[in-house]
Amino acid sequence: MSTPSITDVTTIATAPSGIPLLVVRVDTTEDGLYGLGCATFAWRWSAVREVVENYLRPALIGRPVAAIRDTFHLAHRNAYWRSGPVLNNAVSGVDMALWDIAGKRAGMPCCDLWGGAVRNSVDVYTHANGTSVEELRESVARLAAEGYRFIRCQLAGYGPPAGDAAGATGAASIIKPADRIDSIVDMFEHIIPDLPDGVRPLHDVHERLHPTDAMRLAERLDRFGLFFLEDLFAPEAIDWFRRARERLQTPIAMGELFCSPAELNPLVGEGLIDYIRVHPSFYGGITPCLELATRCEAKHIRTAWHGPGDLSPVGAAANIHMDFAAPNFGIQEWVVRSEVEYEMFPGLPAAHDGQIDPPTAPGLGVDIDRRLAERFPATVEPTRWTHTRFGDGGLTYP
Ligand code: MG
Repeated sequence: MSTPSITDVTTIATAPSGIPLLVVRVDTTEDGLYGLGCATFAWRWSAVREVVENYLRPALIGRPVAAIRDTFHLAHRNAYWRSGPVLNNAVSGVDMALWDIAGKRAGMPCCDLWGGAVRNSVDVYTHANGTSVEELRESVARLAAEGYRFIRCQLAGYGPPAGDAAGATGAASIIKPADRIDSIVDMFEHIIPDLPDGVRPLHDVHERLHPTDAMRLAERLDRFGLFFLEDLFAPEAIDWFRRARERLQTPIAMGELFCSPAELNPLVGEGLIDYIRVHPSFYGGITPCLELATRCEAKHIRTAWHGPGDLSPVGAAANIHMDFAAPNFGIQEWVVRSEVEYEMFPGLPAAHDGQIDPPTAPGLGVDIDRRLAERFPATVEPTRWTHTRFGDGGLTYP
């Protein structure tokens, strides 16, 4: 049997729920055989599209679809300067599509290509939010009634909206560190006693506090027994994870902003975190993530791949396949998708009772209805939600 080769590499941009999603399609010499991959960098999606169509497409046409690892490295090194969120998402779109094709050719779900499922189901966590503790309590109760046992609890998201206080700075959110710390501690004080049996809370600091303040918050949260605490520090404050390791009991989750294996050397190499939160498309796709999962396993770090709303359903499916195949799987972030996303992306997995069943369809198992996708065009808009400022107007991390 001769190996099919790549005949075309194209992109599909769509915004079914308002957030731009970018999917890469790889076509082949074999009739009807194609693959889909996630290249979603919602806030710079048109730049990723340019890289795929103008640079990767001509470099990859004619290459055998079976050469997945070689194609990953070739695409990654093709521009001489490597890595970064734009280039990695472009590479990821191709990499995931080639794994999708490999599964379809074998007639096997991708997780079976990687050694087969090592668990019967995948536990997911989802997001509860409220502008007040009362609202949050209702949000938690609703999700718990749906069967979720792992629930991320946030008060006003990652920080209160700036509203009228935005002023000339145009801030989307204003963080007053002492108030924020007190309000999060107060939130858990009120939420924890009412949590239904078996429900475990999580929290995402979203790197918005100065490391000194973040450490103070984490020390005060230790007594609540969170499942994990996420993005306590910015990647730029990586040294602080050593201090956190010595001082905190709460498991630490980190990684969604990392793009390169080298950046992760301290965190993974020294075993400074408990859950790896890399976003697969920002890390270059499935190939580097499978390698990262194995590297983490040796350090007793569990996987918790980033799975927000600004991730295409193809990327969400890729996460699930990796979850089933990883012995060191920890948990999977999962957002409830809209009806139109289920219609547009047939095969998108669904959670029930806070879990997801093993995939059965060949490849990644998710398709796209291109006609429907065209009815929800992605647009290029200035990014504003990232403008987070302290009370004095100084910028903090988003
Ligand atoms: Mg996060």
